[in-house]
Amino acid sequence: MNRQQASAPKADILVIDDTPENLAVLSKMLTERRYKVRSVTKGSTGLRGAKAAPPDLILLDIKMPQMDGYQVCQQLKADERTRDIPVVFISALGDVLDKVKAFSVGGVDYITKPFQVEEVLARLDTHLTIRKLQKQLQEQNAQLQQEIRERASAEEKFAKAFRSSPNPIAIATLSDGRFIEVNSSFLRMSGYSQAEIIGRTAAELNLEIAPETYAQAVGQLLEKGSLHNQEFEFRPKSGEIRTVLLSIELIELSGVQCTLNIINDITERKRLENEFISLVSHELRTPMNSMIGALDILSTGQLGTLTDRGRQVLDIAIANTERLIRLVNDILDLERMKSGKISMQKVKCNAADLLIQAAEAMEPMAEQAQIALRCEPLSTDLWADPDRLLQTLTNLLSNAIKFSEAGQTIWLRAHLHPDRIQIQVQDQGRGIPADKLQRIFEPFQQVDASDSRKKGGTGLGLSICRNIIEQHDGRIWAESTLGQGSTFNITLPLLFSKQLTINN
Ligand code: ADP
Repeated sequence: MNRQQASAPKADILVIDDTPENLAVLSKMLTERRYKVRSVTKGSTGLRGAKAAPPDLILLDIKMPQMDGYQVCQQLKADERTRDIPVVFISALGDVLDKVKAFSVGGVDYITKPFQVEEVLARLDTHLTIRKLQKQLQEQNAQLQQEIRERASAEEKFAKAFRSSPNPIAIATLSDGRFIEVNSSFLRMSGYSQAEIIGRTAAELNLEIAPETYAQAVGQLLEKGSLHNQEFEFRPKSGEIRTVLLSIELIELSGVQCTLNIINDITERKRLENEFISLVSHELRTPMNSMIGALDILSTGQLGTLTDRGRQVLDIAIANTERLIRLVNDILDLERMKSGKISMQKVKCNAADLLIQAAEAMEPMAEQAQIALRCEPLSTDLWADPDRLLQTLTNLLSNAIKFSEAGQTIWLRAHLHPDRIQIQVQDQGRGIPADKLQRIFEPFQQVDASDSRKKGGTGLGLSICRNIIEQHDGRIWAESTLGQGSTFNITLPLLFSKQLTINN
């Protein structure tokens, strides 16, 4: 026991008794037991004292002149400040104690004179303990009430936001992805009715274009706790694909872990963006082509000889113009591929030939960057557009070279699976952060905003690659370890090549 505990009084007791001897006995008995005692001889003084500084317990004599104990007790119980203080009545053995009255006016117990020390102490202790527990309960109760109020108001806020949000919102179970609740904006966007959605999964409703990407997103969510504005394609009942940004939070509803999916439909914004970009690109193409023509004529020297400085400036102008033309061509290429205006010209071709051709085409660039390019071709027949596959491979190789250092190696290799071929472009370069591995396949998405300027790219290469591979019913994805290198993987089905072999 520390000194403070030893010296702190056990409780504050107010004794009201008109007999000074009684007061002296009680006061001594209690003070010795480390109670703090205040004694008064008149009911009215006791009442004033109790109101001014409420004690933990009151010992109250019944028989007193002017105001008796019952009256004092009644007044104590009538006042908010003193109502809860336990009152123990004191009665002399010879007095007729009206026990019923004592309890009915609010007393909790009584003791009789002459006092039996142990009995008095035991009773005081009991009532002080009861009072303490009562107080604790009241406090806990108040705290619970407060928490309930706060919860109710939080729930109301959430419910209102959920109901009236212009963003489609859906709550689904985390374990099996069944929809528990969706708001009216979600119903509007999806085209389904509440009854059609609740209890079903996105897969059952065929809402996701790429279910594996959603599964990956949920994986990321579990790792990080939330997911913000990831782009997805969403298929409503009408079948007309919509592009959405999805944010997911984990929530617990009645003990069940759920995902709160908040959607931002950006289909229209994307359409306008694409329309604008392709319009501008078309308008830019003609003047840029004539510009490069003019610059070419200047560089031949037909119009006069340039100084060395003039030549340098001209070379910069040519490099920049060429980059702009590449950008415009890539934009138009991607746009036409997306809208289905370009179709793949598929023929039977050999994977080994394509790998070798791609490596040969990129060899000069690799050599200039002092990077070793290793090609491990694999011979198998594919049903593919060779020009487009070559475009994809050279793009991946060019990226690998751009993001590697001199002295490093790049591998272009292939493996055969029962139903598909897997082609890999592996580098030892700077690597790609995990959260960008998917995003870099979106148009204009770069790990570093300055990449295209510094490395001369357009930020469209990987989107075009993805489009080409998807049109071959294949898949493309990146794996990477920061600082150690990246591997770009392509898989293409062998289905057609097999059929061809059988037919031959
Ligand atoms: P860009 O024209 O900028 O190369 P891409 O669509 O081909 O456009 O690539 C997008 C971005 O992905 C690049 O700007 C770069 O940030 C990142 N990237 C692509 N390939 C690699 C790689 N092999 N290593 C590191 N980062 C890469």
